[in-house]
Amino acid sequence: MSVLAVLEQRGGQWQRMSFETLAAAQQIAEELGTTASAAVLGHGIEALANELAAKRLDKVYALDHELLKEYTPDAFTQALAAHIKLLDPTIVLFPHTYQVRDFLPKLATRLGRVAVSDVIGHRVENGKLTLVRQLFQGKVNADVRFAGDGPHFASLQAGAYRADRVVDGSATVGAVTPALSPADIRTRPGEPFRESQRAVDLSAAELIVSVGRGIKEADNIPLIEKLAKALGAELAASRPICDAGWLPMERQVGSSGQTVAPKLYMAVGISGAIQHLVGMKGARTVVAINKDADAPIFEVADYGIVGDLFQVVPALIEALKK
Ligand SMILES: Cc1cc2nc3c(=O)[nH]c(=O)nc-3n(C[C@H](O)[C@H](O)[C@H](O)COP(=O)(O)OP(=O)(O)OC[C@H]3O[C@@H](n4cnc5c(N)ncnc54)[C@H](O)[C@@H]3O)c2cc1C
Repeated sequence: MSVLAVLEQRGGQWQRMSFETLAAAQQIAEELGTTASAAVLGHGIEALANELAAKRLDKVYALDHELLKEYTPDAFTQALAAHIKLLDPTIVLFPHTYQVRDFLPKLATRLGRVAVSDVIGHRVENGKLTLVRQLFQGKVNADVRFAGDGPHFASLQAGAYRADRVVDGSATVGAVTPALSPADIRTRPGEPFRESQRAVDLSAAELIVSVGRGIKEADNIPLIEKLAKALGAELAASRPICDAGWLPMERQVGSSGQTVAPKLYMAVGISGAIQHLVGMKGARTVVAINKDADAPIFEVADYGIVGDLFQVVPALIEALKK
């Protein structure tokens, strides 16, 4: 039994979720009583492979080829399929990035396997691995077990594992040159999409007041702005608020928004969906205001106020002003 983590880089820079996947691979391997290895694909990736060699891993594989410099689903699938066939790992883990979503189903299908996507956690019982993934937009958690022999494929949701849990150690690096030729690749990568520069950097904010759908309508947003101002905090929001255009996208916190780690995160009228939690669970202190005592946000809150925000927030502003 063995675990392989396939990590992502672009232009010599790690994709930030790569080390979350590495941490997961180390944890799962340990619980299964086995070892984890890691693979990285690209061209001129010695420095990245050497960085991995300082982690607790059995082996690091650097799949280096000119045709892996830019991502294409054909080249990545071909290189990985051949490598995985040779290595025969039991579990192969990936970060659930846009790139992985693009090629993982193709890779799994090529090897006659299924891929479990967007995993948020795992358990090992009697030497058997159970993965947890969400259904119905996070309303239900489903346990998934693999049947038969590996390799089994899974991608891990952003924030599900903590990158700072990666354990140091030492590993040997194996340089692999995949057999690839330009004729194998049917697409030609264009100019990569670049996000526009963000005007607001919430990741550096020490105090954040974040507003969710509990605010009911755009006209009520100034109430939360007042609270943020009284605290000297940055204003943030859950996705529906930004989707509705009530606040700009750059203020969205969560898996498809910014990841923040302030000293104080005040969640006002936010239910605490997993996609929101992954963006803010690194906050040192979480305060939640919600009228529903069973809202999941209270599970991560250090302080909770069960009440109507339209009563609680004005009272808080008054108290802060005093
Ligand atoms: C692929 C994907 C990516 C996603 N990315 C993100 C992301 O990056 N960030 C994100 O936030 N979401 C994201 N989501 C959406 C996420 O699943 C939730 O739908 C969203 O976080 C819910 O936002 P909310 O908590 O504001 O709204 P709701 O879930 O509707 O919660 C509103 C809360 O307000 C409370 N409330 C209502 N009225 C009051 C009142 N008067 N006083 C006090 N409390 C009140 C309610 O009890 C409820 O708990 C994503 C979803 C998917 C599928």
